Amino acid sequence: MSLVNLDFAEELKEYSGDTALECFNCGTCAAICPLVNDNFPRRMIRYIQVGAREKILENSDELWRCLHCGLCTHTCPREADPGEIILGLKRFVLANWRKS
Ligand code: SF4
Ligand code: SF4
Repeated sequence: MSLVNLDFAEELKEYSGDTALECFNCGTCAAICPLVNDNFPRRMIRYIQVGAREKILENSDELWRCLHCGLCTHTCPREADPGEIILGLKRFVLANWRKS
């Protein structure tokens, strides 16, 4: 099994930037996020990297807990822009949840 599946990241370019593959899973964003736990938003970005499209849809309620404070984006050492990725995932879910 491949550790990286580029198909889903490619699909998401329609809804967000293409920075998810810049993430090297350091966990800084998850450590600084004031609102949520369980490795959010890092875990969502990892789902993108491995092509776990269904996991995003199954756990989409978590996305709406993000208030876009920007702390994750400001502290990411890879400029992966996790805040914008979460916003793009919201757009993706809104466009796809009825199809799932
Ligand atoms: S801080 Fe950036 S590089 Fe680190 S896990 Fe979060 S998105 Fe990935
Ligand atoms: S923008 Fe969202 S995911 Fe990022 S630190 Fe703020 S609440 Fe957490």
